[in-house]
Amino acid sequence: SLIAFAVLVSTLCGYLFWRLTGHFTSSLMVLQQAISQRQIHPFYQPFFQGDTGKIAGFEVLARWKHPVYGYVSPDIFIPLAEQHNLIGPLTRLLMQQITTDFQKAIHLFPDGLYICINISAQNCLDPHFEMDINDMMRKLEAKKRHIVVEVTERHPLHVTPQLNEWLAALRRANISVALDDFGTGYSNLAYICALQPEFLKIDKMFVSQIDNNTDTRLVESVIDLAKKMRLKVIAEGVETQAQVDYLRAKNVDFMQGYFFCRPLPAEDFIKRMRLEVSAPPSPA
Ligand code: C2E
Ligand code: MG
Ligand code: MG
Ligand code: MG
Repeated sequence: SLIAFAVLVSTLCGYLFWRLTGHFTSSLMVLQQAISQRQIHPFYQPFFQGDTGKIAGFEVLARWKHPVYGYVSPDIFIPLAEQHNLIGPLTRLLMQQITTDFQKAIHLFPDGLYICINISAQNCLDPHFEMDINDMMRKLEAKKRHIVVEVTERHPLHVTPQLNEWLAALRRANISVALDDFGTGYSNLAYICALQPEFLKIDKMFVSQIDNNTDTRLVESVIDLAKKMRLKVIAEGVETQAQVDYLRAKNVDFMQGYFFCRPLPAEDFIKRMRLEVSAPPSPA
């Protein structure tokens, strides 16, 4: 029976190994294919001035619609792209698409509009990144807009000299840095010192705590901290009027969330831009 057990265990191990390596190579191939076949597209979610309610900018969010599996969440395929060294090609594809999406609608973009792109620390290893982003900036007349790269602090970020040098180069090219998902990581304050961001995005986890009766001390101190550091604050995941009222009372610079607008495909986003530009909302 011992022999039978050993055979069983080794068969199981072999099967598991086969499954795992099979899964590894196939997820790599599926994602590679998704990029080369352009199954991944940018969606756009606007954000708004806290005081006036006017559109201030938008964030680019990657969407993958697989022909068989349907929509795959970026929370799944972004880590996969990082794991397989595909962040470079993925970001390049998105930047190309942003350019083609907006080249004909660029007149709708008000001066000073912020264009926010999520990046991963791995983007700093991509030798094409600076050329790609410069190309995009030129085509989108970025002298009149502001490009912002959002770096998440959700995952541990290794602030290497290389990453620092890269961010410094971006800053020299007039690209700003936003620290995304603020409050969800481990060493928020260290990241502020290391990355010297201009923006701080308060994670939706904190925003969702704002309600008439819940404890708001945590979100309040995050806002105070950002103000003291002279950072512009973007509240993300704003879903209710009560949250809007609270954030407005706290003079939060910008607000983003389903309450205002969901992430939209290019065509719908351009329609929305047209409305925003022709009839800007008045303050509440
Ligand atoms: P993020 O950058 O913090 O983006 C905000 C997420 O919250 C987005 O999820 C957005 O769709 C969602 N969201 C916006 N408003 C609301 C709201 O009112 N309520 C709720 N519950 N959610 C809201 P999404 O699009 O699924 O993206 C998830 C994360 O994947 C992003 O978080 C970002 O870290 C990453 N990601 C997305 N696109 C890219 C990309 O092109 N490159 C990189 N490196 N990361 C990306
Ligand atoms: Mg973001
Ligand atoms: Mg975020
Ligand atoms: Mg997030």
